[in-house]
Parts: sequence; C-alpha cells; structure tokens
Amino acid sequence: MRRTIKVKIKNNALRRTIDQYFEAYKFCIEMGYNLQISSKRKIHDATYREIRKRWPGIPSALVQTVRDVACENLWAVRLKIKPIPKNKFIRYDKRTFEFRRKDNLVSLSTIEGRKKIPVRIPEYFKKYLDWNCKSAVATLRGNQLWLSLIMEANTPQKLQNKIYLGIDRGINNIAVTSDNKFYNSKKLREVKGKYQHKKAILQSKGTSSARRRLKRLSGKEKRFVRNLNHCLSKEVALKDFGNFCLEDLHIKKEKKLGKKFNKKLGNWSYGQFQQFLDYKLEEQGKNLILVDPSYTSQRCSVCGHIENSNRQNNRFRCKSCGFELNADLNASRNIAYLGKSEIGRLPVIQPIVSPVKTDTSLLALAIGR
Ligand SMILES: [Zn+2]
Repeated sequence: MRRTIKVKIKNNALRRTIDQYFEAYKFCIEMGYNLQISSKRKIHDATYREIRKRWPGIPSALVQTVRDVACENLWAVRLKIKPIPKNKFIRYDKRTFEFRRKDNLVSLSTIEGRKKIPVRIPEYFKKYLDWNCKSAVATLRGNQLWLSLIMEANTPQKLQNKIYLGIDRGINNIAVTSDNKFYNSKKLREVKGKYQHKKAILQSKGTSSARRRLKRLSGKEKRFVRNLNHCLSKEVALKDFGNFCLEDLHIKKEKKLGKKFNKKLGNWSYGQFQQFLDYKLEEQGKNLILVDPSYTSQRCSVCGHIENSNRQNNRFRCKSCGFELNADLNASRNIAYLGKSEIGRLPVIQPIVSPVKTDTSLLALAIGR
C-alpha cells in the first residue's frame, strides 16, 4: 500500500531544473503525439539525443523518468490528446532521490548537481515515516514548490472476519452505523453555519483585504472538516468488524436519489470520509465494500418489503410487517445486508479516485487531475 506525504520545499536549483524538465516533457509528448507512439523504446529513440542536446544540464537519469512519465501519460489518453499538466513537475526515483529521515532532508538531482534540501514532516504524516520511500514527485504550484514523498509498505493480510457493518451517510447524522451508533452532525452544522455567515459578510465587502480573509477562512473550514473526517473515520475503522459497507455515492448522484442529499454533498465531504476510512481499513486488513444505494431507505430491514411510503422523515415504519425504527438506522442495516448478500455489492469496488493510492504511475499528479 502507498501513502503520499506532501511537504513544501525551497530551492532555486530545483526551480530551474523543474523548468527544463517540463520543457523536455512537453517535447516528448509532442514527439509521441505526432508520431503516434507511446512505447518507452520508441520514444527514447525519438527524443533522447535531442533532449541531451537542448537541455544538457538535465542528468540522464532524469531524462529517463521524463520519458517514462510521458509514455505513461500518452498511453493513458490512448494518444488522442497531448496530456500536458497544469503544473510543472519532476518525477524522482531511487537513482535521483533520497529521503534522509534522521536528518529531515531530501537529496535531489538537479541541473546543478545533487542538492540537499531540508523538509518538515507534518505531525499527521509521521506515522508513515518507517515505511519505504523510493520515489517522489516535485511540483510547482503557483510560486510554491511541493514535494510528494511516496511511502510504501506491505499491505497487511486480510482478516478472516466475516462480520459486516453498514454505514449510512446522511443529513441529520454524518453517519449511522448498523451497530446502533449515531454520529450526529449538529456540531458540524453549527460550525459550517458560522463560517457561512462570516463568509457572506466578507463576500459582500469585496475589498482585497476581505478577499484575503475569505481565503484564510475557507482554509480554516477545510481543515476543520478534514480533522472531523479523520476522527470519525478512525473511530469507525476501529470497530470490531471485518467488512465496512457504504453506499456508492457516484451511483447515488447519477440516479438522483434525493435532491437534498446531492446538495449536501457539496457541503460535507462524504468522499473525503470514504477515502480516509478506506486507508484506515486497508492498514488493518479490513474491507471496504460499496453497495448500490437503490431502495436502502425504503426497504424494511426485517421483512425486506420495499415501499416508498415506508419512510416518513426520520421514522421508518414497514407497511407490511409493522416494524418501526429510526430511518437512518434502518438504512444502515440494509446497507450491511447488501454488502453481505453480494446482490447489492457492486461488481467492481471503485474507491474514490485519489492521487495517493493510485499513483503507481503518478499520472494523477503529473496530469494534474
Ligand atoms: Zn417489514
């Protein structure tokens, strides 16, 4: 399994290297696209000499990674477009990069030789420090250089735990789990409301200082939500279950299941919760299962009867057997049932696309998606 530690760095030689590297990248893309080739061998033959001639300062090991990224990106878009990312970048591998944890620094190849650059690892990432680190990506965003350290560890063996937990995500409750736990969103709504109020005032002012404060405020709000998602996903992931079932929100959105819910999606980062939960489960050898969200709120979790009018606001009352329960809790039990039954399970488990877990090729980072 992989995690990314992202840190800010400063170095002028790296800045100059990133400029040249990106030019060389665009050159590879141009050649690959024009000749309609994406194999490493062919792109190498078509570009290597020219790159060495035009940008003689780029170390040859970096010329190889530039070609590799270009090939992967061209292949990913099937040579239909020229994949040029928004941000300039450099991919580093073990020949061009070293992370020295003890000294809190990285050593990177640049056009001016190896440079040792200090890094400060944020508290939250420190738990990944004993993982392996063989590659990294430097990016220039705006005027800031970032370094993403790719940390790797063996994925733990799957637990032989066949117990299923259903998790319903909603509006009144951030989450309700089928073991009868409610995580209400009162605090979240309070804080969100406070921020929205402040933001509205600042927006109406429209001065440049108001805009600056607005930016700071949304940064603060994001961090609050992020922290809440961390705490919540941590607590849920530690529960003694082997399989954690969630509704697939992409389907939920597509099928327009609940307009309110869609609106809410913008406010509260359900996707982030899922991503955090996914990481935490993976580290413990537990499973995340996504299920089809159809009828989860209309189905009776006792007799299986499905009827729209079974649900009245927060109350679920079965028209067939008379079973009564909190509507979100009933839904969470249906979600657990679907995860277990495999009928409602989606054929392919599709975690939220994240650059952190899917970046074997670092494509997401490199194309800036
Ligand atoms: Zn019933």
